[in-house]
Amino acid sequence: MAKVLALDFDGVIFDSIREAFTVALHTVTGRDPTSRLAEHPLIAGRCSPDLFPFAEDPTFRAFLDIVPLGNRAEDYSVILSAIQDGTPVPDQTAYDRLYRGFDRAWLDEAHARFYIERARLRNDDFEAWRRLQPPYQHLIEVLRSHAGDRTLAIVTARDATSVKLLVEAWAVTDLFSSALVFDKSYGVRKTGHLEALMEKLSAAPSGVVFVDDKLNHLLQVAPLGVVPVLAAWGYNTPRERLLAERAGIAVAKLERAEELLFAA
Ligand SMILES: [Mg+2]
Repeated sequence: MAKVLALDFDGVIFDSIREAFTVALHTVTGRDPTSRLAEHPLIAGRCSPDLFPFAEDPTFRAFLDIVPLGNRAEDYSVILSAIQDGTPVPDQTAYDRLYRGFDRAWLDEAHARFYIERARLRNDDFEAWRRLQPPYQHLIEVLRSHAGDRTLAIVTARDATSVKLLVEAWAVTDLFSSALVFDKSYGVRKTGHLEALMEKLSAAPSGVVFVDDKLNHLLQVAPLGVVPVLAAWGYNTPRERLLAERAGIAVAKLERAEELLFAA
């Protein structure tokens, strides 16, 4: 029976939130140049993303706090709208209510525009774009030390093109087969991704460990019978880690990832 380790990309394999934030700012201010966010140093041209002190930026910190409640590209625009308007988003219920307040056409345009802005940033300066989103080196070392022990797959809300470019640019093609990348085209929920993965690999749910940094994704796929693990090193907060533990979902710190992911 195939033993599969299915890994989310952003916040599990790659530390990519600074890139997502930068692209999201361009998305929102590109659609609405009168937005208050157009004054942000990353947009007003006062600082390049390479040199920007993300950790000290209040907008970035507020973004980090709400990101765990979202899902994919259009959610970043929803999150920035909430920050701009000062809308409190304390939990998943509040986020879901906020999200439902946007009409489908607005969300679809936010989704499409995010990928246009991402491609623009990447084409303007590929090296700067690459440096904004390095892999988690300790995880890469763990995966290399267990090469062949598991079939590795990528299960992501990101686009396959940028997955491929980053995997190549950071020289981790030895770990990840492009044939086992289940990207955003598999749907909004990761149940679609994992069902396709299990069919392709003839894997039983109990033989699939799925690591994601978003609790909402793990809760959605748990009924499939796969083994969910929350990556504490990614984009979640004590709020999600506590809820995961209450739901019986293992919470893995990066330094303990090896024992949790490669238990016999
Ligand atoms: Mg993620």
